[in-house]
Amino acid sequence: MAIAIVFGRLVRRYGRRVQEKTAEANAYITENIHGVRIVQSFCQEEHAAHTLKNILKNHLALAWRYNNARGAFFAFATFSLLGAIAAVFWFGGHAVLAGEISQGELSAVLLYSLIGALGIGSLIEVLTTLSHASGATERLFELLETMPSIKNSGVCKKLPPLQKGRALTFEGVTFTYPNKEVPTIKNVSFSVPAGGMVAIVGPSGAGKSTLFQLIPRFFEPQKGHILLDNCKVGELTLQELRQNIGLVAQDVFLFAGSILENICYGAPHATKAEVIKVAMLAHADGFIRALPQGYDTQIGERGVKLSGGQRQRLAIARALLVDPPLLLLDEATSHLDAASEEAVQKALLEVQHGRTTLAIAHRLATVQAADHILLMEDGGISASGTHKELLKKNKLYQKLAALQFLDRG
Ligand code: ATP
Repeated sequence: MAIAIVFGRLVRRYGRRVQEKTAEANAYITENIHGVRIVQSFCQEEHAAHTLKNILKNHLALAWRYNNARGAFFAFATFSLLGAIAAVFWFGGHAVLAGEISQGELSAVLLYSLIGALGIGSLIEVLTTLSHASGATERLFELLETMPSIKNSGVCKKLPPLQKGRALTFEGVTFTYPNKEVPTIKNVSFSVPAGGMVAIVGPSGAGKSTLFQLIPRFFEPQKGHILLDNCKVGELTLQELRQNIGLVAQDVFLFAGSILENICYGAPHATKAEVIKVAMLAHADGFIRALPQGYDTQIGERGVKLSGGQRQRLAIARALLVDPPLLLLDEATSHLDAASEEAVQKALLEVQHGRTTLAIAHRLATVQAADHILLMEDGGISASGTHKELLKKNKLYQKLAALQFLDRG
């Protein structure tokens, strides 16, 4: 009896741990699939795959232990049952021999049938659990083994030594999404000199964010070239390319973990002093220190415990810590309160010094800070110039400026 209780407890304990590990693996996979662009931007694919492999390995080991314990438990239960029945037969047999009981053979057949059914039932249960586990694991490994369609070309050029930011050039770039027939980006050409600041404005759906996605090669244009310091981005390794780009996306994606871990995401070996420095630059240090655990505060899944403005400033700090020579800013200040918006805006303008910046501008302050503005319309650049020039000559720009570039639809 005591042994059965010990086995039962062991099975329950392993069962609970398997459930916890399943939840952990699910949360990690979901988070990394949703945040795949952030994982790629910070070149953390290998680290993410390695962590997931470890989680899955632990999960599999635990699942095996759980099933072994369950199997042992059922074997013990069956063995005990058999023992009990054997004892009954032993004593019953003697009783039959003594002529005290009749029809023993019939009873034996009945009992064997019962035991056989019990044994097969338990076996089926264990096999079903095993087949569930192996089916799910197979699907997971299939997913892990899927080869990315965008890879290193094999040319692997090196970028020249860094001066003041990296020059960015688009040469006749056309891009159509795989599930679409009409191109989203149509024959786009422009350049941003090293250390320059160019803003892109345009109505919602014009293709501004898509243009950004092409630079770190999240998608590959069908025609034309994108160059970084005169090197085609397709001829650089993805690592070399993405290490040179800091992307602050419209939808900020943060990981479950502490503020410190999130800021350090692209530079895991950064010191605390370096983290504080970029947090101050991003106007985030003040609100972080006001939190009870400061930089060690856990921010919940995808940063749910922070406001939109706080998340945005953490994303800026995270991008700055890798000190990217090319900064891609997709401003997202529409849902912020006035104080947060001012802080984010100030942070964005300050961090542009000494690097090349391409910013999708939603606010007047950004376009006024830009050396040059590109007006995007229906996948193409329909006009370009300074704020003053465009205000003078372009009707759409006048309209957008009157609306203060509130073009997020
Ligand atoms: P907004 O200012 O609203 O963010 P945008 O100018 O950045 O708009 P994009 O997000 O680049 O515009 O979208 C341009 C077009 O491409 C839209 O018609 C959009 O539906 C489409 N699009 C965007 N992402 C995808 C995708 N992954 N697959 C297919 N179509 C897409």
